[in-house]
Amino acid sequence: MSKQPYMPFFFGDFLAATAAWEGEEQSLYMLLLAYQWANGPLPNEPERIARMCRYDKRRFSKLWKTVSRKFVLTESGWTNPRLEEHREKAHKITEKRKDAGVNGAAAKWGETPGKTPGKSRSERLSNARALGTHSDSEWSSLVEICGDSCVRCGTHKQHLIGGSLCKDHITPIYIGGSDAIANIQPMCRNCNSSKGQDTTDFRPKDWAERLAKRLAKMTNEVCHPIQSNPEEESKSRCAALAGDSKPEPPDPRKQLFELGKTILGKSSGGLISKQIALSDESTVAKVLGEMALSTKADPKGYFVKATTPQQRGFVA
Ligand SMILES: [Zn+2]
Repeated sequence: MSKQPYMPFFFGDFLAATAAWEGEEQSLYMLLLAYQWANGPLPNEPERIARMCRYDKRRFSKLWKTVSRKFVLTESGWTNPRLEEHREKAHKITEKRKDAGVNGAAAKWGETPGKTPGKSRSERLSNARALGTHSDSEWSSLVEICGDSCVRCGTHKQHLIGGSLCKDHITPIYIGGSDAIANIQPMCRNCNSSKGQDTTDFRPKDWAERLAKRLAKMTNEVCHPIQSNPEEESKSRCAALAGDSKPEPPDPRKQLFELGKTILGKSSGGLISKQIALSDESTVAKVLGEMALSTKADPKGYFVKATTPQQRGFVA
């Protein structure tokens, strides 16, 4: 009868409505409600109801005097009207949820109900990546900046199943968000799946600045032990991360030239640019590194020591 697997049952109402009843009357009433929920109205033959409930005929008719007050006799049998109201309500709620589910999926994935699905998630992800990407170190640093916790509900990752946070796209990728770090925040699975079309950025206000500083520090430690202007690098990175500008790849030759002038003095500009033009950047960087650590101001001598005559391009 009912497509609903469970019946809404209000124990408070039930106990109040049967407060003056005997225990056996209450249990019979509950049993008959269950029958009606599962099979519809009860037969208009009290003897048959008694057999259904496995009651002795006489015992049943005694109890039925009280219990029948909760039922009305309709064309199809004895019916508890409130139960049918609840059935109707439950049915409407289920239909509403079904519609919401179908419409939600349609909004999310562009699928029109009953039609062939639109782009798959992997297609959408590759579109998002075409708009921007992020590195593993950007993601892990961002998670640390956000306190290793879900930015929406604050749950620490150690309390989550699997011990890790999801990458939430602030502007969802199904409405054109990119996969760049500027559009990503750490969330627990629960918040990620329940946020819907909310595009709130829950990250700390200074996340881009802090992330840029961390990355600049990491880059300097790992890749460029001598090349350095962390402040400058961090500023441009910050703008790039926040999506203010397109990240411009730094020109290593220009960086070397500026660095060289800082170490050797402005008057050495000509020497440095000539050296950069003639030999490879790593050799020049090595010489500049040694010069930076030395008190001797003899750049020419250092270049001579570190390079071959061909590389030097000048006579010592
Ligand atoms: Zn959460």
